[in-house]
Amino acid sequence: MPGVSNAADPEVLIVGAGPVGLAAAIELGHRGVRCLVVERNDRVGYAPRAKTTNVRTREHLRRWGIADALRRASPIHPDRPSTIIFATRMDGPELARFEDALNGTRARTNLYAEEAQWVPQYVLEEVLRAHATSLPGVEVRFREELVSLGESDEAVACVIRDLASGATRHVRSAYVIGADGSRSAVRGAIGARMTGAGALAANINVIFRAPGLAARGRHGPGIMYWMVNADVPSVLGPLDEAGLWSFIATRLPDGHDPAAIDPVELIRRGTGLPDLAVEILRTDPWVAQELIADRYATRRVFLAGDAAHLHPPFGGFGMNMGIGDGVDLGWKIAATLRGWGGPALLASYEAERRPVHQRTIAESVVNYGLVGNHLVQPGLEEDGPLGEATRREVGAIIRMTKVREFMTLGLVLGTHYGNSPLVVPDGSPAPAESATVYVPSARPGCRAPHLWLADGTSLFDHFGPGFTLLVTEGAAAAAGPFAAAAAARDLPLTVLAPGDPRLRPRYEAALCLIRPDGHVAWRGMSAEGAGAILDRARGGTPPAAGGKLPAGKATT
Ligand SMILES: Cc1cc2nc3c(=O)[nH]c(=O)nc-3n(C[C@H](O)[C@H](O)[C@H](O)COP(=O)(O)OP(=O)(O)OC[C@H]3O[C@@H](n4cnc5c(N)ncnc54)[C@H](O)[C@@H]3O)c2cc1C
Repeated sequence: MPGVSNAADPEVLIVGAGPVGLAAAIELGHRGVRCLVVERNDRVGYAPRAKTTNVRTREHLRRWGIADALRRASPIHPDRPSTIIFATRMDGPELARFEDALNGTRARTNLYAEEAQWVPQYVLEEVLRAHATSLPGVEVRFREELVSLGESDEAVACVIRDLASGATRHVRSAYVIGADGSRSAVRGAIGARMTGAGALAANINVIFRAPGLAARGRHGPGIMYWMVNADVPSVLGPLDEAGLWSFIATRLPDGHDPAAIDPVELIRRGTGLPDLAVEILRTDPWVAQELIADRYATRRVFLAGDAAHLHPPFGGFGMNMGIGDGVDLGWKIAATLRGWGGPALLASYEAERRPVHQRTIAESVVNYGLVGNHLVQPGLEEDGPLGEATRREVGAIIRMTKVREFMTLGLVLGTHYGNSPLVVPDGSPAPAESATVYVPSARPGCRAPHLWLADGTSLFDHFGPGFTLLVTEGAAAAAGPFAAAAAARDLPLTVLAPGDPRLRPRYEAALCLIRPDGHVAWRGMSAEGAGAILDRARGGTPPAAGGKLPAGKATT
């Protein structure tokens, strides 16, 4: 292993056991990489923030074998309608509604293998933690924090403090992942800086118990209720089925005094229920930011999740995108450590992820540019024809503009690595960019199109842990040159020939090389040039004549 000689040392040190650090640990642990996660808190799940676990994250959970575990763990019924309602108040007139918002309805579609899930972040974190620690080689240590790190050509040496005793110790690893959130110490240690517009506006998140609230509302079950009124423009969402709620008051006035905010009063005014019995459990003021790190990595240290990018949570992208970072880093670091990843593989992390981050940040800023504060109009809550006309007009604006925040498949599944140095372009045009509409495409760089097979399994269930060569027509023997080239490079390759005639038109090629993260690396009609294709996809160079290639060893 590059630079790490002591078997007690982790191969990878991960700083932060938030959703991103845990996702990276799982991806590495599944690939047999020894990793240590240090977390300064005494447990996971302090963040009552995210609720949207999107379809792409849930596809990763399925690959890891824990999608059902998350469904079972959720305090929110999986069949709760995935409906988002806009109204003036909980007991006021409705303005607009979105059904199957965020693709959270349990129904089979060939577009994806898993629907999204409305589930508190703390529940997801606990499911991730339990799975990570069940993997041999993954250790999660609480009440330990990173103090400093120093990088040499061979390894990264970190100082870790045990917060219970105050004692420090040295940990040496081949790589470090900084998944330590918005105030990342790892970011500072590698000299990276956040750049961008910075603070956009202040907001407050309140977690409260109000068992009587659902019955007082007149809008039926849903996952989000947007209160569009001049008093307290706000967003409510259930955290369980028994009266636990999250409430976000958006875009608080400049110069407000957070200490002067009475959360009970805020909730009563926002919902329009002045006598609602409310028990406040937690208040969490936060500032919507638009920031991205100016660099993501050195040779051995990588930033992931909020440590690398921050944006308003409207659209539910931050955690999900960070989990995508963990997946990307996980397979690339594992491949490099095991020797089949080439010297260009790790550098592709920033090249591939930065455009995804930039597009998603831009989208969430657009969403945050039109929240309840902007939708309020004079007369919105008036009785009579004028009020009704105003509500109709505002409803039409909401349906037209907010659709891109709740129908996000174009962004969530349409994200592609078309310009990646690891991808072999085939000359076909890039798919049209849309936040809402996802058109499946097997163009190199895109997420491989999904299909439910005749036996009821997902096509994705058959992809291998390494690369997969999907044979959509003809015999699996056509893949022979790929199998031979993979063996020469010690590269794990699964040949998959499901014999389903729907795959050929869906993939528009007879052969398709799919990466460990489910993105297409190459597609074509014959296996000619298999070695060169694999070398490009693994960020490597051809093996020396007569032998296997030291691709990953270039990093030692
Ligand atoms: C109101 C709100 C709603 C949101 N809703 C959504 C949503 O629906 N969907 C979505 O995808 N995203 C959402 N987000 C964003 C999401 O919460 C974050 O993007 C996500 O938590 C980032 O995960 P992370 O693991 O990168 O960082 P964090 O969750 O911040 O975890 C970092 C961890 O690192 C630890 N740490 C920090 N420094 C050190 C150190 N030196 N040593 C050891 N440990 C350290 C911290 O204790 C922490 O546990 C929302 C955010 C807000 C504010």
